[in-house]
Amino acid sequence: MSKQSPSKKLKNKHKTRLPVDLSRINMGNSYDSPPEFYSDRDYVCVDCGNQEIWSAEQQKWWYETVQALIYTAEIRCRDCRAKKRAWLHQEHLKSGHKKV
Ligand SMILES: [Zn+2]
Repeated sequence: MSKQSPSKKLKNKHKTRLPVDLSRINMGNSYDSPPEFYSDRDYVCVDCGNQEIWSAEQQKWWYETVQALIYTAEIRCRDCRAKKRAWLHQEHLKSGHKKV
């Protein structure tokens, strides 16, 4: 009889995998093969250097609802994004557009 260690490893922490809806993603000019699944991704915020996780759900929203190009990715944490957005808004006002 072989000894079987109870393989309940905690290493595999809950990982979300969401299927990609190929009819909704924006491949742009890229002819790379599209991904089949979204899964949680680690990234480092380019502004503050925080280690962040870009969840599969957020990716799905980003690529399928926003229809951002497939080769774009999250590079900022939520705080920095909010700051950036506020900054862009300011710039927008400065450039003379009246639209709010
Ligand atoms: Zn940041």
